Amino acid sequence: MKVYDKLYIGGEWVPSTGTGTFEVLNSSTEEKIGTIPKGSVEDAEKAVKAAKTAFEAWSQTSTEERAGYLDKITQGLQAKMNEIAEVVSSEVGMPINLATMIQAGLPSMTCGGYSGILRGYKFEEEVGNSLVVKEPVGVVGCITPWNYPLHQVINKVAPALAAGCTVVLKPSEVAPLSAFMLAEIIDEVKLPPGVFNLVSGDGPTVGEALAKHPDVDMISFTGSTLAGKRVSQLAAETVKRVALELGGKSANIILDDADLETAVKKGVQNCYLNSGQTCSAWTRMLVPKTKHDEAAAIAKKVAESFKLGNAPKGEGTLGPLVSKRQRDRVRGYIKKGTEEGATLVTGGAEAPEGLDKGFFVKPTIFANVKNDMTIAQEEIFGPVLCIIPYDTEDDAVRIANDSVYGLGGGVWSGDKEHAKKVARRIRTGQVDINGGQFNPMAPFGGYKQSGTGRELGTHGFEEFLETKSLQL
Ligand code: NAD
Repeated sequence: MKVYDKLYIGGEWVPSTGTGTFEVLNSSTEEKIGTIPKGSVEDAEKAVKAAKTAFEAWSQTSTEERAGYLDKITQGLQAKMNEIAEVVSSEVGMPINLATMIQAGLPSMTCGGYSGILRGYKFEEEVGNSLVVKEPVGVVGCITPWNYPLHQVINKVAPALAAGCTVVLKPSEVAPLSAFMLAEIIDEVKLPPGVFNLVSGDGPTVGEALAKHPDVDMISFTGSTLAGKRVSQLAAETVKRVALELGGKSANIILDDADLETAVKKGVQNCYLNSGQTCSAWTRMLVPKTKHDEAAAIAKKVAESFKLGNAPKGEGTLGPLVSKRQRDRVRGYIKKGTEEGATLVTGGAEAPEGLDKGFFVKPTIFANVKNDMTIAQEEIFGPVLCIIPYDTEDDAVRIANDSVYGLGGGVWSGDKEHAKKVARRIRTGQVDINGGQFNPMAPFGGYKQSGTGRELGTHGFEEFLETKSLQL
């Protein structure tokens, strides 16, 4: 049980002025595993003040000094890797072996990566008689979701600190514990007071207070498109910079010349990663009409090979969803898919047998899905795959792009050049060719309503920089 009853503001653990707490649950057992304070607007304002006060000195530190702090934070994350993995696996529902690599290992790698980027970055450039210098944008409000909780926090906090910005973090109230563990590490490495502040709370209270605040120079938000729009509207009043990482409904195009068995297998696995709670998941599988039934049969076999089980205990290969709310929402979409006339190949909206506790949903496949159905247009965020048949390659590209979202995607072909040609026509921020590996140094982000801006690597670092020209 992790009981956090204080917020981290100005280099100290301080009580919240708000009343009440959020309970954190183990999504596999529904048992309480922690509590955090429900922060107030006043807490957010106090944290912004601390961040603003700390900015001047922090922004003037040397790159080596900041890189040194990032190295120490990385070491702290590595030392707590197993504990972080267990906490996030319990919260979110990702099986422990995967959570160790992705929910705990990846953030420490990203954090370490930013000290490397910082050490090698050229902050100055001559343009004619001007010296163009890059400077930190200022006080950054970071608002993050629950599905990859520490990854999403580090994707913002590490580059912001590297750039010389100061930070107020509001993590998700649903999976907040790893953010508190990060604050403990930051406290241990003695980052100067006010450079990093943590205020937990709900979106409409603490999140909106940050988005509106005149002393917050930038909001870096990851979450739903709905909340992202609200944050943008509020931030517009003070013309702050806004970076948004939002939802997705990514298409996985399997071309006629692809190895169907491999492409379908990897496609289902991608869709089910983290129980489908992945913004860039390939939730729409586009297959040639002539191969539709064969693809559906392969997908059924793959889906049925997944075993539901207690995620932190390492039982099974697919965990639960994060919460009751999320489980009910996903089951609602499964019902909707059947009502709209899609073919339910496997899974379904009923509770899985033998699991009377935990927020589990059966691994589900729909075939004969039309792209205008709700299940093909809206983000479901559960283990639900839609197989959509297409006639020609142009048709496949049109269907892939017929979405308000544009975050990720896949293209499969026996000929890589053929796949690349199709990938360039897809209006999304990332496309994996023949299952190309996730690259934590490559820019990640969305076209269209999947967001603005990019995270990770040098592109992610530059989001936190302003540009100044000195005429000489
Ligand atoms: P959410 O939008 O409900 O919450 C995200 C964060 O925003 C939380 O911290 C929440 O408290 C806060 N928030 C909510 N309403 C707010 C408001 N009015 N003002 C300010 N802050 C507010 O999203 P979620 O359910 O936590 O996460 C799932 C969503 O996140 C999915 O849509 C998913 O696609 C998206 N996501 C996107 C990416 C990406 O990189 N593009 C990554 C992960 C998740």
